[in-house]
Amino acid sequence: MRIQYIQQNCTQCSLCVQHCPTGAIQFDYKNRKLIFDQVYLCVECVSCVYACPFKAMVLQDAYKFDVSKVNE
Ligand code: SF4
Ligand code: SF4
Repeated sequence: MRIQYIQQNCTQCSLCVQHCPTGAIQFDYKNRKLIFDQVYLCVECVSCVYACPFKAMVLQDAYKFDVSKVNE
């Protein structure tokens, strides 16, 4: 079970952050963007996947928080 962030689908609604029990995803409210600095805290509970209304957090087999394109 792996989770991939698809930035182009994200509306920065912050629902995933509110549902994450570990603080693995955080939200920069000033700049309105997700922060993945603490992503090592992820326990793959998939709450963020279910919380996201826009399919910006999805399950993937091959990726675990592929955030390589976040700042492109
Ligand atoms: S899978 Fe769970 S622990 Fe990991 S970022 Fe999503 S809500 Fe947080
Ligand atoms: S819930 Fe989905 S759309 Fe909202 S901030 Fe998280 S990833 Fe982006």
